[in-house]
Amino acid sequence: MRIGNRRIGAHHPILVQSMTSTLTEDLKGTLEQIRRLEEAGCEAVRVACPNDAAADNLPAIKAGMTVPLIVDIHFSFRLAMRAIEAGVDKIRLNPGNIGGKRKVQDVTKAAKDRGVTMRLGVNSGSVEKELLEKYGWPSPEAMVESAMRHVEMLEELDYHDFCISIKSTDCQTLVEATRELAARCEYPLHLGVTEAGLPAYGSLKSAAGLGALLLSGIGDTIRVSLAADPVLEIPVCFDILKATGRRVTSPELIACPTCGRIEIDLETLVKDVKLRVESKYPKLPVKISILGCVVNGPGEASEADIGVAGGKGSGVIYRAGKQVKLVKENELLDSLMEEVARFAAEYEAKNNVGSTAAPK
Ligand code: SF4
Repeated sequence: MRIGNRRIGAHHPILVQSMTSTLTEDLKGTLEQIRRLEEAGCEAVRVACPNDAAADNLPAIKAGMTVPLIVDIHFSFRLAMRAIEAGVDKIRLNPGNIGGKRKVQDVTKAAKDRGVTMRLGVNSGSVEKELLEKYGWPSPEAMVESAMRHVEMLEELDYHDFCISIKSTDCQTLVEATRELAARCEYPLHLGVTEAGLPAYGSLKSAAGLGALLLSGIGDTIRVSLAADPVLEIPVCFDILKATGRRVTSPELIACPTCGRIEIDLETLVKDVKLRVESKYPKLPVKISILGCVVNGPGEASEADIGVAGGKGSGVIYRAGKQVKLVKENELLDSLMEEVARFAAEYEAKNNVGSTAAPK
């Protein structure tokens, strides 16, 4: 599925997106927040469009950004048409909620004509009354049935350019519902734990819910919904993708928790390596393992691209599980960075990508 100049689904990278928290009527503030989101690596931005004043600003917002623009419509047929006419890339709406079959036909026709795609978004608050009566609560079954109703409405009109999300504040409900939805259809899925909370707990909760799905191979685009500046959501999204191995775009550090067998100052070394590697090679998907002693070192190092196992005032450096050299503890950081530089050169040549190093 296309969203502006990006694609999602199948083999395409899982897209990281967020939503502005400014009033869309505030053009300057919204564009400023979008600029900061783009700088943080956000790959598509959604804005709310609750009224005509917000809709008036959509052309200028679209013109002022580089990533695709998604517009959240909810219930208004008229605002959906205005967003499509404004040239946005994707709209979020539920066809069952915009006022009847004729209006759904008109919206899908306009969307098709302008190459605008859609997200059908079901959450616990949007489940239809009769489904709530049937299931007793916004259960996973109720949310899937609600989503499939919207899907069928669009399929009847031969419109297939959409992704679907089922969001819940409850991880178990989210995971069960999304797994069921993934089993029932092949449309790309947008994942998110809705209203996850303040940054610390909200990030963990999102990792729990999204992680379970991502590890099962489900999910084509994600958002982490924090009660904070949305820019904070972006690194969390990328960390969740990295931790699940679904999209690794930066260095990953594995470090032991240390114990009574520790033989080097591991904590300082890990912090120094993190600082140096992330500042020098922010886009290098290298896995570095740093272990405090030889007990687990060789085994763990073989799982990483580059490894260090501490010894008495020294350390052994590994590359792809093979011992490269033994160095003194005070030379570990520099020796490790030499291996990272070699790894970066090989990675860039092998994958025919540009420099993974930070600009000077
Ligand atoms: S690697 Fe060694 S020092 Fe680190 S936790 Fe394991 S046994 Fe302890």
